[in-house]
Amino acid sequence: MNCFNNQQKKKPKIVFFLLAGFILFSTSFLSCEAKTLNRSELVLGTICSIRILDGASKKAMDAAFNRLEEIEAVMSANKEGTVVDTINSNSGISAVKSPEDLRYLVKKAMSIADASDGAFDPSIGTLVKLWGIGFDSENVPNAEDIKKALLLTGRKEIIVDDKNGTIFLAREGMKLDLGAIAKGYAADQVSDILSKYRVKAAVIDLGGNIKVVGKKPDKQSWKIGVQNPFDTRGSRLGLASLEGGYSVVTSGIYERHFVSDDGVDYHHIFDPKTGYPVRNGLVSVTIISKSSTDADGLATALFVLGKEKGMAMADKWAVGAIFIDQDRTLVLNEYAKKVFSLEDSSFTESDS
Ligand code: FAD
Ligand code: MG
Repeated sequence: MNCFNNQQKKKPKIVFFLLAGFILFSTSFLSCEAKTLNRSELVLGTICSIRILDGASKKAMDAAFNRLEEIEAVMSANKEGTVVDTINSNSGISAVKSPEDLRYLVKKAMSIADASDGAFDPSIGTLVKLWGIGFDSENVPNAEDIKKALLLTGRKEIIVDDKNGTIFLAREGMKLDLGAIAKGYAADQVSDILSKYRVKAAVIDLGGNIKVVGKKPDKQSWKIGVQNPFDTRGSRLGLASLEGGYSVVTSGIYERHFVSDDGVDYHHIFDPKTGYPVRNGLVSVTIISKSSTDADGLATALFVLGKEKGMAMADKWAVGAIFIDQDRTLVLNEYAKKVFSLEDSSFTESDS
């Protein structure tokens, strides 16, 4: 099992919460009658929980968590020796042998980057490391360093070579960062694994990145809470009613952020054009889609694009989108309107 790496900032409250959650859920419980099983572990830099409600087996659960650990060992940009780390340390030097799943995900990330005109950019790693938000190194870099880091961001210089099975970053100093999409991919992978093991109903929650599998035992639709961005993790402002196979993913400015000495709040979603955290009035974007990979990538992309352009992209990709503003206004596209119901009356729905 993985825990946070050394770099991670020690935030007592968060650590307490993580440990409490870990202790509560790390002991798996298998009920023979209902065939239910719950497990939570710290993987992918967050708490990953899987709740199997029907058709559970220890084998299925073990296979799911093994896959999460495998994904982390390949895709983490925060641990030494992963494939992504090796690609990053060889940027501008040599192509690095990369497994098929990593090449697939990098290509998917590049397609979201192209479709969003670079609002989403998996080559943003140097900038992400420079700010270090969520890690001991978090700081407000000087403008000159931000400019230099931006020069090392360029999705067109990520070379994926499927024939030779390699990935190459064309300029020295470039770094890949799949933090905005890999949890979504992991949720899709876990969903496939559970289905292979004949799990009939399950909820996958990878740090708030949710995917439901199969039919709920009571045959009702799944009800997935949409996070209230102004409240603690797990507090919802409304519910999405969905069939099995759907995913709900939120990108927001409220989880990973810090306040600088001069009182300014900086969060972790960057505008690759400016090198600074996006400030467009949004506090979160929630995406509803069958593919959790798309939902994760698009939640970040649409956050950077903002409401107007983001809405157009959501419609083009045929996903549900809920944009939430600082002033507690929600804007939903047509698909999201069909499945989402607002419960918290301190928020209002608007058409624009
Ligand atoms: P999202 O909106 O989905 O993603 C935001 C993240 O994407 C940012 O944190 C940044 O990394 C990147 N990003 C920012 N702007 C852009 C942009 N414009 N385009 C593309 N990407 C952007 N956290 C730890 O503290 N310690 C760890 O050891 C650790 N290991 C991880 C390993 C893996 C494989 C993964 C997937 C995540 C890991 N994390 C770790 C968490 C990670 O660093 C991110 O903070 C997290 O994935 C952000 O997810 P999110 O859903 O909150 O936000
Ligand atoms: Mg994302």
